[in-house]
Amino acid sequence: MKNKGRLFVISGPSGVGKGTVCRMLLSRNDDLKLSVSATTRAPRSEDTEGVTYYFKSKPEFEKMIEESAFLEWAVYNNNYYGTPLSALEEKLNQGISVILEIEVQGALKVMQKRPDAVSIFIAPPDEQTLFKRLKGRGTEGDEEILRRVKAAGWELSQKEHYDYIVVNDDLDTAVCEIEKIMKDEKEKM
Ligand code: ADP
Ligand code: 5GP
Repeated sequence: MKNKGRLFVISGPSGVGKGTVCRMLLSRNDDLKLSVSATTRAPRSEDTEGVTYYFKSKPEFEKMIEESAFLEWAVYNNNYYGTPLSALEEKLNQGISVILEIEVQGALKVMQKRPDAVSIFIAPPDEQTLFKRLKGRGTEGDEEILRRVKAAGWELSQKEHYDYIVVNDDLDTAVCEIEKIMKDEKEKM
């Protein structure tokens, strides 16, 4: 029988570079796939349905919660975000390792439900850099940025619950560090 894939949770505050790190990991590792989440937030110009997210209305998302369609879900800045369970299981059963790129409340739930998951917290070099990156990305207005910075305080306080903490200062160094963690963890299976 084929070995099951490994489940990796990559998490951390908004603007720390999770998306950037994950894109680089996926482009360099063909055997790794991203779990596509569902969300009720409005699509941004760079979003593609079914690729970056499955965009749902609030009633649609709540129906999926009732049907236990999610491994985890969370409310983040007034929107629902969740990890669809069946697509994830399918990939893992095919021996494909999967990344969940999710916020901290959801990551803590996955750690409880799936002790086999490997959790990685991406930390900023310092809080000022986090704020600068979030503002520099230019995808949120000032009010939304403030909400995300406020949430970051609690999120950063949760980092000790993770298996690994990786500081995203130099991007390539952070990605190489995660690749080493992934290789070591796959060998442990
Ligand atoms: P997240 O997915 O955690 O919200 P992003 O991946 O969107 O964060 O990154 C936020 C911003 O920071 C983006 O503009 C991205 O290009 C930039 N960024 C990410 N990693 C680094 C890094 N190591 N050094 C400098 N800028 C970075
Ligand atoms: P954004 O709106 O910037 O795309 O995402 C906001 C936050 O939601 C990010 O921290 C992102 O990692 C997180 N997120 C994306 N998908 C999921 C998910 O399925 N579950 C949870 N809990 N968080 C998610």
